[in-house]
Amino acid sequence: MKLDRLLTHCHLIDEKGVVSYDQSLGIKDGKIVRLLQTEGVDAVEELDLQGAYVSPSFVNLHAHGAMNIFKGIAEDVSIHRWFDEILWPYESKMEASDAKTGSLLAMAEMLDHGITCYAEHYFFEEEIVEAAKETGIRMEMAPTLFGSDPNFDSRLKATTRLAETHATDRIRFAYGPHSPYTVSKPQLESVVEEAKESGLSIHLHVSETKEQVEQSQLAHGCTPFAYLADLGFFSQRVLVGHGLWVEEEDVDLVGEQTYFAACPKTYGKLAMGTGALWALSNRLNLSFGTDGAASSATLDVVEQARIFALFGKQGASDAEQFSLPWLWERLMKGHEYFGFPTGRLVDGYEADLIVWNLDLSNTLPVYNPLAAILYSSDARNIRHVLIQGEFVKEDGVLLTIPKDLSKSVKDSVEGILKRGTGNAKVHFA
Ligand SMILES: [Zn+2]
Repeated sequence: MKLDRLLTHCHLIDEKGVVSYDQSLGIKDGKIVRLLQTEGVDAVEELDLQGAYVSPSFVNLHAHGAMNIFKGIAEDVSIHRWFDEILWPYESKMEASDAKTGSLLAMAEMLDHGITCYAEHYFFEEEIVEAAKETGIRMEMAPTLFGSDPNFDSRLKATTRLAETHATDRIRFAYGPHSPYTVSKPQLESVVEEAKESGLSIHLHVSETKEQVEQSQLAHGCTPFAYLADLGFFSQRVLVGHGLWVEEEDVDLVGEQTYFAACPKTYGKLAMGTGALWALSNRLNLSFGTDGAASSATLDVVEQARIFALFGKQGASDAEQFSLPWLWERLMKGHEYFGFPTGRLVDGYEADLIVWNLDLSNTLPVYNPLAAILYSSDARNIRHVLIQGEFVKEDGVLLTIPKDLSKSVKDSVEGILKRGTGNAKVHFA
């Protein structure tokens, strides 16, 4: 067998954070070929990595990529002002081209940080899918559904059709009801029915703030998770954006196929409190997301994991919790949600990889590669990124991002500021 690529002299970091030193890794038809030795192994291209670390790539479990176009537009404001007076009013006048440009910007930043797959939750799904196809990033697209939308039912069905006609080996679809407080009970029921028929996942925001939980208790007599459980949500594959205020009693209600995307930078920035997400994290399928850049300012899941650990250690007054292997395993766990064969360095898995350069001032010396990556690294340390064995970032250069992106961003911002704010369609609870 002739390999497409042969990576030699590399230290492999597996999904548990275990390092195997001085190894070789083959790639054939976009898939990983594990090698015990390289004698007699033939490859189209051989890359001597000279002792670089290689790991599976990262995934981002919760993002609103298009919101990169609003990064920095709402700073030092309460979460209510952030949503009701700034973000939602600006979004009401957003155009499809803004969403495409914002998404390309988000994808550039994610690929730069070694993120090769992400869970998107937004409007303008066609433009976003187009951007994903151009950049090669993997994505699960959940078109956002607000209950106030008069076309709710047709948009719900349209998601099923998109999955039938536009899914590829890199792009999947999910239903994206915004949250239990912006979508009515009959509408939520119709989402569950549709998901049962199609088998697609449901991606929504749940228990983001303490107030949301209190309001749910008043309106329904139970927590948002219990309310959704009653409607049959957790018999399906569900991706929970945040779940920051998940409660003890919710843990047994969510299913084995429920994943939580923790985005702690947003919680800090919008002062959303501490919640029980940390205390219950070992009992949940928890990984990390970035949320939208309008609240988190960056799309870097390593930074989110880092902040999660720091808040967690500080909050629990226990430096032994949220350890490096724990964080690494949680980052890799995100791969499971998507169901693409990625996230492990084993035979037959797809070669979505990061080749690290930890020989820079911010990461040297490397006593412990997980510490260097999780606590010290940034995008500069990510030398190559591959998806299905093909480079999307090579020697620090992004290969699939349009060269004139910064000009498109400036043009978009000019239009956004000129059009100004309109009326928000919903209000934050
Ligand atoms: Zn979100």
